[in-house]
Amino acid sequence: MSDLVCPQNTIAVLQKYNFRFQKKFGQNFLIDAHVMDKIIAASGVQKNDFVLEIGPGIGTMTQYLCEHAKYVAAVEIDKNLIEILHDTLSSYDNVEIINEDILKVDIAGLVQEKNGGKPIKIAANLPYYITTPIIMGLFENHIPAESITVMVQKEVAQRMKAVPGTKDYGALSLAVQYYARPQIIANVPANCFMPRPKVGSAVICLTRHDTPPVHVQDERLLSAVIRAAFNQRRKTLANALDHCTQIGLGKEQLQECIQKMNLPAAVRGEELTLEQFGMLTDLLDQHMHADHISLE
Ligand code: SAM
Repeated sequence: MSDLVCPQNTIAVLQKYNFRFQKKFGQNFLIDAHVMDKIIAASGVQKNDFVLEIGPGIGTMTQYLCEHAKYVAAVEIDKNLIEILHDTLSSYDNVEIINEDILKVDIAGLVQEKNGGKPIKIAANLPYYITTPIIMGLFENHIPAESITVMVQKEVAQRMKAVPGTKDYGALSLAVQYYARPQIIANVPANCFMPRPKVGSAVICLTRHDTPPVHVQDERLLSAVIRAAFNQRRKTLANALDHCTQIGLGKEQLQECIQKMNLPAAVRGEELTLEQFGMLTDLLDQHMHADHISLE
């Protein structure tokens, strides 16, 4: 294989195909071998693994994954990259290139078809403009992924890992931490990419929990409560939840639930832990059902 992570080799491929970067697809190709080694090591990919790569670009990381894994499915949206990928990956028989938008791929179906539904590993240098929908889609659709090792914008990695009471803490921190244990592997400067992105980057590894750290009656309600709590960050929790149609409880009932948890009336969402959000969700759930029963 010609190691594409070496900048001269990337340039040679781009020139051979007269490839033009498309900003709208978040195309920043990795050209640093040291960072690549870190991603591959953190992903823990081994010879019996099925790996999903999101956005292979010209196939730089794909080649490494093919060397380490049993099988790689690489989903790339840009049709101009497909011919290039067939060329750069021609020496591998354990890779499939799928020309699709990852947000439209039936990943669960793919895992079922190609890996008998057994857990897969996911690795990617993600297109930053859709990081959150990709990650949340994987979690909320219960894709059987043991681990997700991805390059993301540095601030996003910090938000995923953030704890209560910090400025980075928000709906993404809680959502990610409900499903997985996040670990920042490395901060990556802009000069490790071609072209250089305007933002800093970080590699984060999300290791899926066997069972979520909190148990709630209704997972969807938990997610609605969290989103509502951070939608209007500056409001008190009671005021923020008052606007949530999925809860549909009056201000007094909301305050009653908050009080039952021994929280101050003016508490804000950013002060609550995941465990407290779980408890609050179950209390709200009980109230919602009590109301429902009394109306019948
Ligand atoms: N993996 C390559 C690397 O590390 O050099 C490229 C990474 S680049 C940051 C992101 C890649 O995702 C690009 O190849 C881009 O075309 C692709 N991409 C963007 N949006 C996508 C989508 N919705 N579905 C699949 N691929 C997408």
